[in-house]
Amino acid sequence: MLLIPGPVNVPRSVEFEATRVVNHRSDAFREVVSQLEGKLAKLFSSDRVALLTGSGTLAVEAMVYSLLRRGEKVVVLTYGEFSERLLDSVKRRGAQPVVYRKVPGESFNVEEVKKVVEENKDASAVALVHNETSTGIAFRELRSVVKAIKDSGKKALVDSVSGFAAYELLVNEWGIDAVATGSQKALASVPGMGLVALSKEGISNLSSIDVPAFHDIQLYLKFQDKHETPFTPAVGVFFATLRAAELLEREGIKNRWARHEACARYLRKVTTEMGFSLLGNESNFSNTVVAGVPPISPKSIIAELKNRGIEISGGMGELREKIVRIGILGVVDDRAIHKLVTALSDILKQEVSLKAPSQCSLPDFLRAEVEW
Ligand code: PLP
Repeated sequence: MLLIPGPVNVPRSVEFEATRVVNHRSDAFREVVSQLEGKLAKLFSSDRVALLTGSGTLAVEAMVYSLLRRGEKVVVLTYGEFSERLLDSVKRRGAQPVVYRKVPGESFNVEEVKKVVEENKDASAVALVHNETSTGIAFRELRSVVKAIKDSGKKALVDSVSGFAAYELLVNEWGIDAVATGSQKALASVPGMGLVALSKEGISNLSSIDVPAFHDIQLYLKFQDKHETPFTPAVGVFFATLRAAELLEREGIKNRWARHEACARYLRKVTTEMGFSLLGNESNFSNTVVAGVPPISPKSIIAELKNRGIEISGGMGELREKIVRIGILGVVDDRAIHKLVTALSDILKQEVSLKAPSQCSLPDFLRAEVEW
């Protein structure tokens, strides 16, 4: 059982679809591309979604490359390992980053973001990670943060690789220029696709490319106009992701947001009761990653859980070997969390009386597709 922050266990039908291979220049595949972009655009509430074969990192890099220009001043808000990776992309692009950094475990509030944009009137964009997977901390007030950025006339670039489908996120309504994500997270597909959702404004900001490259989003959108991809795609992953998008539609995106929040809230409560010292607080906790210092060493808790068939992750960067991270994305439900909590009770010799809330369970059609 995977309780790492991606890749995630996927529904049976998604796994099955991943094995399909067809000619990517056939009508059958054009239908997949067309349906997939249509469904994802609705789920993101965006204008377009670029469908890239690759990982979340590629999606982030493509977003940065396609929305920023060489020499452009860009505010980057960093608060963990993935934010640092986003910053690296901005630097590689040749943009001029102005970095505001928090130590891992801390986050920016809306007032701070307002102050930052005020201090950087000449910056034309702000780039940030929605959900910092390395610390289990997120911008829970993303809507207000984006409003502050857009009110100041700047572009908003969001890495929501581990956030999309687990929080309210409305690209068009909030005016976000671009959001990058990956298939193997809360969307609950197999790894292999990077997705970049764009608003109308984001699309208009794609225009003047100064250095041509193969991960230019405009190139992808041009091919997607014909329901194709510029290069050979991971065809099976496209089929799988289309199925994952159908299942998400059927569950209802709002229900998926609520399920992630309910599961995360519950797991935070239980682990705190068991003596974990978690990173973050009510204002910034992640809906997809519960992270903190366990009551016994991270190494032994990871090993003990692995012996019981459950995989969780350790820390990253300066938090390596200091914390554990439990990923609760995609189709993780009350049953999976119950299994984890039972194993933790056994390892830590502690009884826990809390019961997962009903909002943490999957609808019946999905429950039948996932075994823990
Ligand atoms: N950004 C965030 C916030 C992530 O959590 C991850 C992966 O976990 C990435 C970027 C990179 O994604 P990938 O590993 O698919 O390249």
